[in-house]
Amino acid sequence: MIPGPFNYHRPATVADAVKLLATLGDDARPLAGGHSLVPMMKLRLATPEHLVDLHGVDGLKGFRRDGSQIVIGAMTTQHELLASDEIAKSLPILQETALLIADPQVRYRGTIGGNVANGDPGNDMPALMMTLDASYRLEGASGARDIAASEFYQGAYFTALEPGELLTSVSIPVPAAGHGYAYEKLKRKVGDYATAAAAVVLTMSGGKVASCSIGLTNLHETPLLAAEAAQAVIGTSLDAATLKKAATAAEAIMSPAADARGPVEYRKHVGGIMVMRALLRAAARAS
Ligand code: FAD
Repeated sequence: MIPGPFNYHRPATVADAVKLLATLGDDARPLAGGHSLVPMMKLRLATPEHLVDLHGVDGLKGFRRDGSQIVIGAMTTQHELLASDEIAKSLPILQETALLIADPQVRYRGTIGGNVANGDPGNDMPALMMTLDASYRLEGASGARDIAASEFYQGAYFTALEPGELLTSVSIPVPAAGHGYAYEKLKRKVGDYATAAAAVVLTMSGGKVASCSIGLTNLHETPLLAAEAAQAVIGTSLDAATLKKAATAAEAIMSPAADARGPVEYRKHVGGIMVMRALLRAAARAS
């Protein structure tokens, strides 16, 4: 299939992009890396009359340290994140997760902004952003606002983005020095979306878990924060009974779709296993 006809726009500034989106209304969609939008257009599941290409927009690329946060421009690609020494040092889980997305071709074009704005429950970055307590900068005709990643996802492909709003950057608090981290993703083959995945960021003190955050990918119509599971491991040394308790608490909030990746019970079961594996690997990395 090839996409239906559309008009192509290439604004040079955020203000121009926002103005175009406001003027063109529901018939327009921002175009980032195109690796979710264009396949949907080829299948005619998306038929925008106007594409507003963000590649020419100043200021949407790259990342910077801003105090205790890393601020990443929406048009920064997964490949650029993987190539960064600064990200390797301060946010290694971002690289571990990016490396599990699709294949090099997709990572060369796909952007962090497109990944988190898309609202696809199969995308890996949204649950990670929730785990890291990230926030998104949204800019529209009526100005800019910040929203926590944990409040952004409202349903499959349904987010807090208002019509005409652009997601311009992602701000991530840098985790504590010595934190442990892991992103565990079960997939059927290289290039596939997750059957189930879990992100863990934790700190250890005296051999016990001092703080913990757990996110879940593709186990519900939105990414999930598994708060009870995270609470269950605080103050423990992650013995077998605690790991099981955390997995059970995480499974209790999962409601994955039954699809080609497996029936509901299987996906919940492997979701629990991803949580246990991620906890153990994160703890082993913490210092
Ligand atoms: P686009 O496809 O250009 O846009 C996606 C949607 O977000 C569109 O609706 C667009 O209008 C909107 N949008 C884009 N940018 C903005 C913005 N700044 N503000 C507001 N709205 C915006 N992803 C994973 O996470 N895990 C995987 O395992 C995975 N596997 C894949 C396998 C294949 C074969 C392919 C083709 C893709 C896969 N993807 C996967 C998706 C890939 O990561 C996409 O790149 C990503 O989902 C969307 O980013 P993009 O930059 O390509 O956005």
